Amino acid sequence: MKRVHNFSAGPSMLPLEVLEKAQAELPNYKDSGMSVMELSHRSGLFTDIITEAESLLRELMNIPDNYKVLFVQGGASQQFAAVPLNLKKNGKADYVNTGSWSKKAMKEAKKFIEVNEIASSEDENFTYIPKVNTSIIDSEADYVHITTNNTIEGTAFQEIPDTGNVPLVADMSSNILSEEIDVSKFGVIYAGAQKNIGPAGLTVVIVRDDLVGNASEQCPTMLDYQTHSESGSLYNTPPTYGVYMAKLVFEWLKELGGLKEMQARNEKQAALLYDYVAQSSFYASPVKEDSRSIMNIPFVIPNRDLDGEFVKAAQAEGLETLKGHRSVGGMRASFYNAMPVEGVEDLITFMKKFEKEHQ
Ligand SMILES: *Cc1c(COP(=O)(O)O)cnc(C)c1O
Repeated sequence: MKRVHNFSAGPSMLPLEVLEKAQAELPNYKDSGMSVMELSHRSGLFTDIITEAESLLRELMNIPDNYKVLFVQGGASQQFAAVPLNLKKNGKADYVNTGSWSKKAMKEAKKFIEVNEIASSEDENFTYIPKVNTSIIDSEADYVHITTNNTIEGTAFQEIPDTGNVPLVADMSSNILSEEIDVSKFGVIYAGAQKNIGPAGLTVVIVRDDLVGNASEQCPTMLDYQTHSESGSLYNTPPTYGVYMAKLVFEWLKELGGLKEMQARNEKQAALLYDYVAQSSFYASPVKEDSRSIMNIPFVIPNRDLDGEFVKAAQAEGLETLKGHRSVGGMRASFYNAMPVEGVEDLITFMKKFEKEHQ
């Protein structure tokens, strides 16, 4: 069996061990004679899966007891609406604009709440993370929204901003589980699963107790955090297979040593590529050094005509999905948790060869 190194920004690669476990259990889960896909979401076997998934996630992220963990659908994009619908009190919220996903979050929130953009890096094409501190935050704002890792632009907050008493809400779709974080600094964390958790279709929401149960009257039942909180994410049929796959990924992460170990691996792998690009006179990084993501790493060749050739030649060597997002151009390599160091090394070997051939 030939597996490629898949550098896709999402949906992205899953650990081979996880895929193989799922494959082995596919037709007959725990002697039930059924696949997990065929189990009732109210069955004992599925209850065990979702309970275990939550408890593993709590353990991995060290989630305090006063936070709920919700497994929902709709993707991170649906949370763009769910957040204002659940957190609106005074009717205004502060947003930090760090790229395409922040902009989409703001655009959606504007339908439900007054959005104030308190900081932005749009002036320099989102190549850096602007400073955020309590002095620019409206103390009457219902929340402050940030995108911790900017999947398209390749930037990431290096530290979690202090928002004082205003709840901090984070779209963590592309860096959840990639490093240790202090959950207690956040009011809400949400993430679509398809980058670092599991297959598309599952969305994880981690929300502080006091922010549950205050949804606006017009909030649809399915977007109300309370609906999912009081039903253990079983109000209706949850994405059962996605929850199962997430559980396998959480087990894999725990086995590897948890987020501390994962963070060390991710930092090391990202540094290999950044260091190579830094010493090269052929490639360049469009991102400011103090704002670099360790998950999504864009790089460019000054001669843009070579982009297509690079992507095609890389693909021929089993290095997949390296084309940059159309808004940034060039190339982008995503090193999510499942990317082994060999993938990074093979990419750099290919980049050296390509550089030599096109100097
Ligand atoms: C991928 C992504 C999204 C969109 O996620 P969906 O689950 O497809 O809605 C939102 N925000 C960030 C930061 C992302 O990387």
